[in-house]
Amino acid sequence: MNAVSDIANITGAVDEARLGTLVGDLAAFGARPDGGVDRQALTPEDFKSRRFLVDLARSYGAQAYRDSIGNLFFRRPGQDADAAPVVTGSHADSQPTGGRLDGAYGVCAGLEVLAALADSGVAHRRPIEVAVWTNEEGCRFAPGSMGASAFTEPSLLDGFLATADTTGRTVGEELAEADPLFADVPLRPLGTPVHAFVETHIEQGPVMADAGVTIGVVRGIQGTRWYEITVDGIAAHAGSTPRANRQDALRAATEIATGVYAAFDAGDERLRMTIGRLTVGPGSVNVVPEQVRMTVDVRHPEEAVLDAVEERLRELTAAHAGRARLERTMAMPPTGFDGRIRDTVREAARDLKLSAMEIDSGAFHDSLHLARHCPTGMIFVPSVDGLSHNPAEHTALSDLAAGTRVLAASLIRLAQN
Ligand SMILES: [Zn+2]
Repeated sequence: MNAVSDIANITGAVDEARLGTLVGDLAAFGARPDGGVDRQALTPEDFKSRRFLVDLARSYGAQAYRDSIGNLFFRRPGQDADAAPVVTGSHADSQPTGGRLDGAYGVCAGLEVLAALADSGVAHRRPIEVAVWTNEEGCRFAPGSMGASAFTEPSLLDGFLATADTTGRTVGEELAEADPLFADVPLRPLGTPVHAFVETHIEQGPVMADAGVTIGVVRGIQGTRWYEITVDGIAAHAGSTPRANRQDALRAATEIATGVYAAFDAGDERLRMTIGRLTVGPGSVNVVPEQVRMTVDVRHPEEAVLDAVEERLRELTAAHAGRARLERTMAMPPTGFDGRIRDTVREAARDLKLSAMEIDSGAFHDSLHLARHCPTGMIFVPSVDGLSHNPAEHTALSDLAAGTRVLAASLIRLAQN
């Protein structure tokens, strides 16, 4: 068979109905009465769903493996048994108010590709694997993406295993307790070589649905910086202190906030700025505010823009000399995805006559970590009304199937060389 007919055969074998059934079957683990999913990491429902996925992958002829942070890998051997695999996948854990698709779609799409490979018998040189990364959401055990980041940076493992939830249960205790359920799944070391990683995911925003586009070729994941601005004033009696005698911390803070919003409005379409928390002290109805603390979350795909915004925040606080200070509390640089994988995804969409657009990811994903380990890319499908982390999260089944066909074509191309 030549490469063109291989790709036609594999995309033709992707079965929309079977994919829809799998999404529903996975959503039954931790199903909420409102149609959403509550399957937080390393809970009994999470482990039961993983066991279900192991058995399903084996029914498609794949070998199952796991590692010491609980990541699962479903491997379809290639003609060259020793070649580094092409890997897809995502996460199966959810937020407490999760939908059926965040993470789960990327796992289901990968399994549907394994099913289509089993049906079509299309051969590939490199092994193809589906990964199920542990604890991407981070809502029960912080930080998120523990599985993907321990895989790419094994020195993080011990700290992650000792991480406790609010009840005192640790990641290590949960994994150890579930161990018998996976006794027949061999352990693999962390950080094994990967030729390429491609993750399918719902967009979780409104951009593609608004544009009426089916496939998102993801350029990368935007950078994020967090700041805390502290503004000092002098506490004083609300009734007896005249205007000229006040040093009102909130009044100065609102001037700074107005400047933050002006900087946001002056930026390009891709800039995101959010003041999400404002703490006023002493917080009394009849006392002039003594101190205000205000958070600012800034995101953009370009480091230079993040630098320029930071400079503007410094100017805004400097304007209240001696009373306001800016502290950067977190910085996550932008991640650009591999050009060759972006080309592969774009060409696969074109060959399938699907509309496609370049897009930046607004959210973090397991791919953020994989990008430090191997050439990495992502495929987005549209989210109806841009909703996610919400039980009403939805994507048309035809779009889920289209994304899976693009994934199948991309994996086969990457696995041939
Ligand atoms: Zn996700």
